[in-house]
Amino acid sequence: MSPPLLSVADLTKAYGGAVALDGVSIEVGAGEFFALLGPSGCGKTTLMRCIAGFETPDGGKLTLKGEDLAGVPPHRRPVNMMFQSYALFPHLNVFENVAFGLRRKGEKEDAIRARVSELLEMTQLAPLGARRINELSGGQRQRVALARALAPRPSLLLLDEPLGALDRKLREETQFQLKEIQRETRTSFIIVTHDQDEALALADRIAVMRAGRVEQIASPIDIYERPATRFVAGFVGETNFIDGVIARDGGAALATSFGRLPRAECALPEGARATLSVRPERIDISRQGEGIAGRVEDFVFRGEYTLLRVRVAPDVVLRVGAYDGRFTIGDAVKLTIAPDAGVLFAGEA
Ligand code: ATP
Repeated sequence: MSPPLLSVADLTKAYGGAVALDGVSIEVGAGEFFALLGPSGCGKTTLMRCIAGFETPDGGKLTLKGEDLAGVPPHRRPVNMMFQSYALFPHLNVFENVAFGLRRKGEKEDAIRARVSELLEMTQLAPLGARRINELSGGQRQRVALARALAPRPSLLLLDEPLGALDRKLREETQFQLKEIQRETRTSFIIVTHDQDEALALADRIAVMRAGRVEQIASPIDIYERPATRFVAGFVGETNFIDGVIARDGGAALATSFGRLPRAECALPEGARATLSVRPERIDISRQGEGIAGRVEDFVFRGEYTLLRVRVAPDVVLRVGAYDGRFTIGDAVKLTIAPDAGVLFAGEA
């Protein structure tokens, strides 16, 4: 395997007594789209700032293209950062904003013109080169910021909440463009987001962070289908946490207050407390037949499916995705959870 483009090894950083990074290790490959996902304050921005060189870590090691980054100033790193605020220059037009980094590097005028034109084309800004920044929409500004950050051909581009200022519809469109541009330029991207849908949609791999630590690094599908911890299961996507006790007589099962849930795979011993995390869409629902008896208490129409809240015990309500059949409040239903659906965690929440 080729060595990673970026290696972050056991990075630590504290501000006064507050620990922002508590031993973070990640590796990012050349041309990879990598996402840092986690709740506010978990250390995502601090990690980006350490990679860019705006912040000096207390401990650990950063290596880029085999070079130890300790002591290398930001402008000498083959890294660029695109800020959430975009930080565009209001007194310069679109063309000059994109050209800025190239002029500072002292590149020749012809080369600058060619590179800026290429980027304006790629970001669909070609007709707007002469516009001032305050004459642009939010989506257009975002693209100027991206073109400017890519102009000096960084090996690694860091994007801090790049779509955070856009409304929902524009965000979705821009996600496709961002992915296309990343593929076209073959630049490694690390994107910071607290929006799980964005991370799942964009990234080749995701690192889920919590309180200065990495909880899991995996592909979007694995993060969603095989969360390594209860925190990841709860943070990424919707899930049900079902508490119970492992029973091993006649095949492994989770014994719950509303019945036995057979389990295909279970390494936990008889009598162990455990929690099953199961996504709403992995619970099957019907009006009759075998299964867990419940009653629909509430529902939310989500377009392609309806999310139901189904009470199955006095103290247990499950969220269930119904893709067909019209269910309404008060309906008696039967639920089944396949033995291989969901992930079992030891202990209770
Ligand atoms: P958000 O999603 O809200 O941007 P984040 O995951 O990017 O959050 P960081 O900005 O990296 O989190 O902050 C991590 C922790 O370090 C937080 O507790 C924050 O308050 C603290 N912190 C960050 N920067 C500083 C600073 N310059 N001085 C003091 N504390 C800081």
